[in-house]
Amino acid sequence: MPRSSSPRRALVAVLALLVAALLAPAVAAAQPRVVVVGTGGTIAGVAPDRTNPIEYQGAQLPIKDMVDFLRPEVGAVADVRTFQFANRGSGAYSIADFHALTLAVEEQLRSADAAVVTTGTDTMEEFAYWLDLTVRSAKPVVLTGAMRPWTAISSDAQINLFNSIRLAASGRTRCFGSVVMMNDEIHAGRDVTKTSTTRTDTFSSRRKGELGYVDGPSIRLDRSVPRRELCADRSRWRTPFDLSAIPVMALPRVEIVKSYQQAGPEAITAFADAGVKGIVTAGTGAGGISSAMGAARTAAVAKGVTFVSTSRTGSGQVTGTSSTPGIVRGGDLLPQKARLLLLLSLAASGDPATVADYVTRYGNPEFSAPVDD
Ligand code: ASP
Repeated sequence: MPRSSSPRRALVAVLALLVAALLAPAVAAAQPRVVVVGTGGTIAGVAPDRTNPIEYQGAQLPIKDMVDFLRPEVGAVADVRTFQFANRGSGAYSIADFHALTLAVEEQLRSADAAVVTTGTDTMEEFAYWLDLTVRSAKPVVLTGAMRPWTAISSDAQINLFNSIRLAASGRTRCFGSVVMMNDEIHAGRDVTKTSTTRTDTFSSRRKGELGYVDGPSIRLDRSVPRRELCADRSRWRTPFDLSAIPVMALPRVEIVKSYQQAGPEAITAFADAGVKGIVTAGTGAGGISSAMGAARTAAVAKGVTFVSTSRTGSGQVTGTSSTPGIVRGGDLLPQKARLLLLLSLAASGDPATVADYVTRYGNPEFSAPVDD
């Protein structure tokens, strides 16, 4: 080759680099933008002994380091960034923190196509249902965590985080509200609950079953959620719980009381005297409570406390056609989920009929009746 071709080759190389640099943002922009919001939990935990997944310190690792550990693989499925909301165990979050989390997720979703929220698993179902009820955006919101700390041998942390990013990036759960991705399973935030203290398959949607699976690159959705039907009509898809308009001070105290054989009245009476605005009863069978509790409930209703009746059985409806003022049936909502819904309903309206309507309508959405063919 004559030496004179070298400058031409250099020019071509520089031009190629320029073109690549110009195209790079376009290629990156073509990827779904996923924000991973870190809140702590076991997924961010460190085990001093890698063989002991029980005794460890949770909420240690920054979410940025965890996502960076999964590069370059995550880079192949999405344009991922992180946001550290806080780094704590799930039980250390207050309702005021939940309010702030909703606003933070909303803010992140303004520039991202989907969000993954990592949390501790103990109250992940409450994080998930809260976000399900309050996030205004229809973009995918996927919650995940881990039963074994990040550094333990055979931890579920890395695969859960990776699969959640993969699911969020796919856009498949748009308009589903929040979903939980754990153990390769996709669950509705409304339905899922933690069923075991230690097992990696702890999350279950009980009789309703999971929505689908993430099996490597294959994402399978077997069923939908009723809310998905309203996707085209966002004013109906959204709940009335717009936290940009509901100040944190407006969120009232709502508590849960469980019934059992000969349960006493004191818990209900004490909560009512403490100024609690709502109480969810976790009753026996289809919502029954002891006679003593029933009398305390009647007295508390007279003081203005609103009750939601749920069951301690873990599945099945608390339903019926008659109505008692001040007592709303919770359908098949678990007590801890009904509590969040009642809290938000009381914050959004001071009218008892509207509160009852919100609990019924947003707590137990159904698919619409089939149109005659
Ligand atoms: N105690 C932890 C938490 O909920 C448990 C976990 O993350 O699995 O924060």
